[in-house]
Amino acid sequence: MVRRKPEPREQAKPVRPERAGPTEPPPTIAAPKTISLTGIHVTCPRANCRRSKPMTWEQLALPDDLLFPRVVEKKRFACSACNGKAVNITPDWRQYRPQGGGQPSLK
Ligand SMILES: [Zn+2]
Repeated sequence: MVRRKPEPREQAKPVRPERAGPTEPPPTIAAPKTISLTGIHVTCPRANCRRSKPMTWEQLALPDDLLFPRVVEKKRFACSACNGKAVNITPDWRQYRPQGGGQPSLK
């Protein structure tokens, strides 16, 4: 069962003054979806382990507006090899096809 209360997109956020440069909104998990990535890679950072496992968006079952870095807290991943809790996540780029299909163009 998926319990999901509707979350307003514009929540009152603490306004933090940026030091310099343009303010970029933090990426949500909708961002990699829009470029057709199929999921994420969960990787164990331990030097003697380095186990890596792909997970699809369906397996993650997270709302699109979740900030990408927060996926780790939401899912509480643990490494299935060494049981380490400090895992890294990255978008799964293996299926990535640049628009126009086929090979990345090197112009
Ligand atoms: Zn591990």
